[in-house]
Amino acid sequence: MKSGKQRKAEIKAARLKRSAGLQGVPERLAAYLSANVVACNPAQLAPSNSYGAPDFVHRGYYVDTAFRCKECGAEGIWTAARQKWWYEVAKGNVETRAVRCKACRAHERARKEIARQIHQAGLLAKRARAQQ
Ligand SMILES: [Zn+2]
Repeated sequence: MKSGKQRKAEIKAARLKRSAGLQGVPERLAAYLSANVVACNPAQLAPSNSYGAPDFVHRGYYVDTAFRCKECGAEGIWTAARQKWWYEVAKGNVETRAVRCKACRAHERARKEIARQIHQAGLLAKRARAQQ
């Protein structure tokens, strides 16, 4: 498996390669064309009661975002395609961002599942005591 640093370097290299053919193109347009972006469809977003719209709605597209895992501190890339999936398919809250790397996400999911099982077992035991 590649580290976050390696993936970041790969993305940067690919971006440089794409931007090489954009000499003379206005800076903002060149940034858009050279970045890894995916169009945003605001109609597919989960309803939100927040004031204003998130950056990607104003911009009109998702862009690869670097983040640091809050568990292990590894650097990772939240890709534009994964962002589109999170917000538009999984209907994730538009104010949420990636905070954990893949390994730590799996670990957290397993921890929550075990905690849920313990909680359910506790409820069953409590009900059984109440019926005696
Ligand atoms: Zn992590």
